[in-house]
Order: sequence, then C-alpha cells, then structure tokens
Amino acid sequence: MMSNTSFLSYVMRQFEEATQTLGLSQDICDVLRRPERSVTVSLPCRMDDGKLKVFTGYRVQYSSARGPYKGGIRYHPDVTLEEVTALAMLMTWKCAIMDIPFGGAKGGIRCDPKSMSQAELERLTRKYTMAIANIIGPYLDIPAPDVYTDAQTMAWIMDAYSKIKGAPTPAVVTGKPVALGGSEGRFEATGMGVAVVTREVSKYLKRPLKDAKVVVQGFGNAGYISAKLLQEMGCRIIAVSDSKGGIHSHDQLDVEKVLEHKRRTGSVINYEKAENITNEELLESECDFLIPAALENQITAKNADRIKALAVIEAANGPTTPEADRVLFDRGILVVPDTLASAGGVTVSYFEWVQNLTRMKWSLEEVKRNLEMRMVKSFEDVINSAKEYNVSARQAAMIVAVKRVAEAVKALGSWP
Ligand code: GLU
Repeated sequence: MMSNTSFLSYVMRQFEEATQTLGLSQDICDVLRRPERSVTVSLPCRMDDGKLKVFTGYRVQYSSARGPYKGGIRYHPDVTLEEVTALAMLMTWKCAIMDIPFGGAKGGIRCDPKSMSQAELERLTRKYTMAIANIIGPYLDIPAPDVYTDAQTMAWIMDAYSKIKGAPTPAVVTGKPVALGGSEGRFEATGMGVAVVTREVSKYLKRPLKDAKVVVQGFGNAGYISAKLLQEMGCRIIAVSDSKGGIHSHDQLDVEKVLEHKRRTGSVINYEKAENITNEELLESECDFLIPAALENQITAKNADRIKALAVIEAANGPTTPEADRVLFDRGILVVPDTLASAGGVTVSYFEWVQNLTRMKWSLEEVKRNLEMRMVKSFEDVINSAKEYNVSARQAAMIVAVKRVAEAVKALGSWP
C-alpha cells in the first residue's frame, strides 16, 4: 500500500501537471503549493476504564481563496498530517469543480473508532472541537463528516462550539442531524452524486444503465447509497465489500438485504445468496461500472491492468494511484475522478450552510434538483476540458479546478 507521503506527492503531482498545462505564473503556483494553515492538536481523553489516553488531531486549511475553508473530519488509525494535507488540497479542487464558494480543508483524529464506545467518541469529539474552536466558524471553516464520522459527530461539534461561543451556531458544521438544522438529503448526498455521475457516464459511453453490471468497494454511507440508487435505476449490483471482505453474485445482489445482513452480522461477508471474495478479486471483477467507495490507494500499478470495467467512478477520495491512472487511461477505461464523482456530499453541505445562514428549509426535492443540476454541469465542464486539452478526465478536472482557484488567488492579490 502507498504511504501517506506518496499520496500527498501524488496529489501534488496532479496539481503541477495542471499548472503546466495552464501556464500559470510561478507566484500563483507557489501560493497554491502549500496549505495556508496546518494545526496539530494533542487531545487527552478520559476512557471508559478511567485511564487517560492522548490522541492526536489535525485540521489543515488549504485554501480560502474562493471562500471559507470546507471539508470533512475523519477518524481512522492511519490518519497522518500528510494524508490530511493531501485531502485538504483535494477538497480545494472539489469545491472549485462544483463551483461552490468554498476553499478547502480537512481534519482528522488518529484513533480507532471501531474499538471506542459512543461516550468515548463523544468526549474525544468535544475535546477536538475545543482545541480547534478558534480556527473554525460559519464564515471561517466549516467541518463535515468523512470516514467514520457522522451526523452525531457533527451534533457534538456544533453543541461544543455553540457552548464555547455562547450562541447557537448551526452553520459551523454541515452534515448535522435534520433536527439540528441539517439538510434533507445530506446523508444520501455523496451516493446521489455518484448515481447522477454514473448516469451521465452511461449516456456518454452509450452503455445504458438498464442491466449494467456494477461493483462497489466499500459499504459505508457512500458505497451503500450509491449501490442502492443505481439498483433503483436498473443496474445489477454484482459485488460489494467492506473492510472485512467482499461478496459476489453471478446474477445480482439485493442491496437492502445485504445491508440487513451487515447490520445483523457486522459485515457483508457470508451473505447466503453470494460467494465470498477478497477485496482484490472484487476490484478485478468484470463489470461496466466499478465504484471504489472505501479508502485511498486501492487501484494501483499492481492491479490496474486487471481492472475489467468500462468506467471507474471514484466515490472515495484518492482510490487510484497515478501509475494506475496512466494504465487505465492507456487502456481506454474512463476514470471519473474523486473531485467530481464524490462531490455530492460537499455540494449538499453547501446547500445546508446556505439554509442555515438564510434561516430557510429546502425540501428534499429542491435539494435533489439543485444537486443534479450542479453534478451534470460539472460533468460537462470536465468532459469539455478533457476534449479541449486532450487529457484524462482527472487531469481535465484538475485543470478546471486549478484555473478557478488561480483566478481567485490572482484577483485577491497579496496583502499586507
Ligand atoms: N467528507 C466529504 C468529502 O470528502 C464531505 C465534505 C463536506 O461536506 O464538507 O467530500
């Protein structure tokens, strides 16, 4: 597996390529090459057994050129400053591709949430909020859920922040429970975006969605909802997986029943109407649309030549390494990059923030309509840029994003 340092250098390399294509000035490249602020915090937390454990948390604010910093917070044992930095840079491009008025950020705590109780997670989340309270805010930096964090995590952050500041401040985070000012559709948003993009890809490649074979790696929020929506749109979901392994069916899986099985047993594996497969086998299954919806660095130089999909739609952040990207491009496999395919979440986060600031509530229909419009428009922008510059969809997306952010940096100037 690729280290986090190389994940960062890979994200950086994509950026450098785009700056060369665009012929950007050295000044602007220098500004965009590093995060505006990186914060590392130490988080002493009382565990249920009475012992004190000290965790490390991060918040990297990459760019505020296009608006307040925006990006999720992940809880994972492998979180490092390098990884969070790469993800914060990716958020900058993601917001720019979707043309929403945010910069990019990311946060994380190095911890194993699966081995922690709800009470421990709550204490840790409140500690973390306290530690970063002065650098987040509705007009400054707006966190959201990411890997192994959810609406409940956001509720704790909002509550802690509001108490510290002495005023209820729902707009400080997005992805909150609907009861606390969360948006309708935010929970499903990443999956909805993936489904819309997959539909656009199917039109573009002239491979109808009806009976299209879909493989989904990861069965968290993004993976499960993508699978469910694509099944409703007529696709056959033939394989899914989670961190414990995968399952494959020659016919198709009933996504709801797989979810029930996972709820009951803790994993998708050993589902009675399918055979167990490894994560490697899953990625190499023959299909029309392969949707990596787990973690970064899954499609690598090792397996790229064995991918048997018509297109890869990246619901996760950074699932394909640059070497693999090149192999897939040479093999004519369309890869819709994370910065576009997984942008449904942050787009509905934007709608949530707008609703909070305007004290309005949108219906689910309004959210879906606006999300769909933006996903379709950004998909077109990326495809047009790919044609104009004769590059892969990933490079094309980077070109669109870097151009937008660079314009903002230039217009802002440098002061003081
Ligand atoms: N964590 C999600 C992402 O990587 C959502 C971020 C947000 O809503 O701010 O896009």
